[in-house]
Amino acid sequence: MNSSALVDKFGRQVNYLRISVTDRCDFRCVYCMAEEMTFVPREQVLSLEEIERIAGAFVALGVKKIRITGGEPLIRRHVLSLFRNLGRMLGLEELVMTSNGSQLAKMAAPLRQAGVKRINISLDSVDPDRFRELTRTGDLRRVIAGIDAARQQGFAGIKLNAVILKGRNDEEILPLVAFARDRGLDLTFIEEMPLGQVDEHARDACFMASQEVRKVIESRYSLSPCTHRSGGPARYYRFDDSPIRVGFISPHSHNFCSDCNRVRLTAEGRLLLCLGNEHSVDLRQVVRQTEDDAELRQAIVDAMDLKPERHYFDLQEAPQIVRFMNMTGG
Ligand code: SAM
Ligand code: SF4
Repeated sequence: MNSSALVDKFGRQVNYLRISVTDRCDFRCVYCMAEEMTFVPREQVLSLEEIERIAGAFVALGVKKIRITGGEPLIRRHVLSLFRNLGRMLGLEELVMTSNGSQLAKMAAPLRQAGVKRINISLDSVDPDRFRELTRTGDLRRVIAGIDAARQQGFAGIKLNAVILKGRNDEEILPLVAFARDRGLDLTFIEEMPLGQVDEHARDACFMASQEVRKVIESRYSLSPCTHRSGGPARYYRFDDSPIRVGFISPHSHNFCSDCNRVRLTAEGRLLLCLGNEHSVDLRQVVRQTEDDAELRQAIVDAMDLKPERHYFDLQEAPQIVRFMNMTGG
């Protein structure tokens, strides 16, 4: 039963909050960031205490699942204390996170101890040079060490996420699938979304739809649709000869807005009601103005009215969404 007090104008219950704890990152993935980025000044970023207070308000209102993301969440100083406090928060059923894996070799064990249940790790290539090209700064060996460290910790789930750009890493589809099958990890392919202005590649020319990715996989393996849902927008398929699942997130090809159950908190405290729209409420102002949690909860309840029915992405046009994914909290 879903008992969230957060219901939008379209009757959708919101029970999932994604929190970006920093807009900073040790990588500069070509689809996520420009090479030269201006980050939010530190005083404008929510403190860990402010994040915890906002998270507590959401949980009191019926949010059951929180995903910590970024930027790269694991490069934020003292972030483990936030994980520990959230891990102990009564009413929060699932604490999960998304990471680029670069810090996981040392962080996987304390994260597990803090109560993190599942981790999504981004991996767009298993070729060190191509990995470096796509992330601009990333070291594949460190990320693989991070993935393997996480596997040893017994998380309830570890999933790999890959963004495929035509002509850049579409040759990586089958090697990524082989990597995931070898390690027994689910793998989800995400279509690139036009968030923020990137000059490094033309988003429309590099766009590769989920269907095309699936065809490449089916050139080698037999896939059949499965009913598994991870509580998110991915559609899953399974292999005949491996227990892993492969998922596809298709913000362009499929409209997954009708059962959207999530909102996002940016590093500077903006509550975003939709990934693909600018509708937002400044919760930083609220937490810095009042100590009264009832006022904070009311601001959150009121914000639900702003949640738009759906998003539209158009690759030919200049991006309507000027914020990058590291701001959004992917
Ligand atoms: N740094 C962490 C990571 O890379 O996993 C967490 C934050 S990152 C913004 C979250 C996810 O968003 C990653 O899986 C990344 O591939 C994805 N992402 C970033 N920019 C994107 C874009 N323009 N379109 C689609 N996915 C994007
Ligand atoms: Fe950093 Fe993640 Fe964005 Fe890559 S996708 S630049 S790892 S925040």
